Amino acid sequence: MMDIFDKYAPFASRHEQLLQLGADPFAVRIDELRSATEAVIDGRETILVGTNNYLGLTYDPACIAAAQEALERYGTGTTGSRIANGTYGPHQELEQAFARFLKRRSCMVFSTGYQANLAMIAGLAGPRDVVLIDADSHASIYDACKLSGATIVRFRHNDPADLDRRLTRLGAEGECKLVVVEGLYSMLGDTAPLQAFVEVKKKHGAWLLVDEAHSFGVYGETGRGLAEAEGVEEEVDFVVGTFSKSLGAIGGFGASNHPKFDLLRFCARPYMFTASPSPSSIASVRAALQRIEEDPTLRTRLWANARRLHEGLVGIGLRPCSPVSPVIAVPLPGEIAAARAWNLLRERGVYVNLALPPGTPGSLCLLRASLSAAHSFAQVDVVIERFAAVVAELTEEGAALARTA
Ligand code: PMP
Repeated sequence: MMDIFDKYAPFASRHEQLLQLGADPFAVRIDELRSATEAVIDGRETILVGTNNYLGLTYDPACIAAAQEALERYGTGTTGSRIANGTYGPHQELEQAFARFLKRRSCMVFSTGYQANLAMIAGLAGPRDVVLIDADSHASIYDACKLSGATIVRFRHNDPADLDRRLTRLGAEGECKLVVVEGLYSMLGDTAPLQAFVEVKKKHGAWLLVDEAHSFGVYGETGRGLAEAEGVEEEVDFVVGTFSKSLGAIGGFGASNHPKFDLLRFCARPYMFTASPSPSSIASVRAALQRIEEDPTLRTRLWANARRLHEGLVGIGLRPCSPVSPVIAVPLPGEIAAARAWNLLRERGVYVNLALPPGTPGSLCLLRASLSAAHSFAQVDVVIERFAAVVAELTEEGAALARTA
């Protein structure tokens, strides 16, 4: 009889390779969190530069107080879906607050950002529709497409001309066409050319959904996301976001001006058949949204930190993949170098993300840093110094290897 795990043989051997490289992401244990930017990892004081905690709100006193109060008033969990167990007042209040903030007619909250994409995309598109997605889309977008049963068409990353060609080729095929792009792409830190995508979607009468998971709270005059920054919100039919990055909690949202949007509450299975977000998450996100509305310096500090790290890394000879953004990805020449650099940085008390193929665009081997408004300039400078020390050490090791070869 076949072992039910045999299908994972390629993953098992990949995991083995990663272990040999010393690059097992599950081996990193966070023993203690001191703040949004500091932790004790494997017994070492560490600066966190890989959290997506863009606004540093996980330790914001107002967010913590709101979560604590909700715990006292509503308990630890909702223990079911809204369709079965009912809606808590704070769910509705948060949806109304998001709708107001985003200037959208309606908003729905979900239990995670992953669920938000599943529910929105698989709720909006069905077997007779076509979903056109950027090739570098997040896994939740791919999974949502599968769940929808729609025809899936991938277009080249950030390439509106390729989208245009594919829509032209489709012609009358498919009842509705839903184009899905992200705002800020989480691996390389590049952004979608939204104005050009809007032109293409208008030309073909398609619908446009933008996943602002990494750009909400970060881009735009008031933090509404990349669509705000690009001045195209009116043309974005559906916006998706997560609570797990700039909002510092767990959950997600979807919003739209479509008058029938709330039908999704009865038609989107990933909304209907999973427990609604916990009261403490909802409450801390409500407070986080208020912080975003009231304190634009959160964004200015984040961007100042992003610029400082970007400049600093360029200054020591590294070449980030994209212009300045709160995600700074540095390519390294191969897996061994990337894993070695990642480990050396951790030994020096800097935690960034190690991103390796097949999880990266273009099979790049990346050290990925994400900045936070909660970082101080002093911390950013220490990170740059430690990157420089690691580069020097790797260069020496490379030279020694070359000498012995
Ligand atoms: N969309 C994008 C673009 C993401 O990067 C992520 C998470 N990394 C998600 C959706 C899912 O969000 P969550 O972690 O809240 O499930």
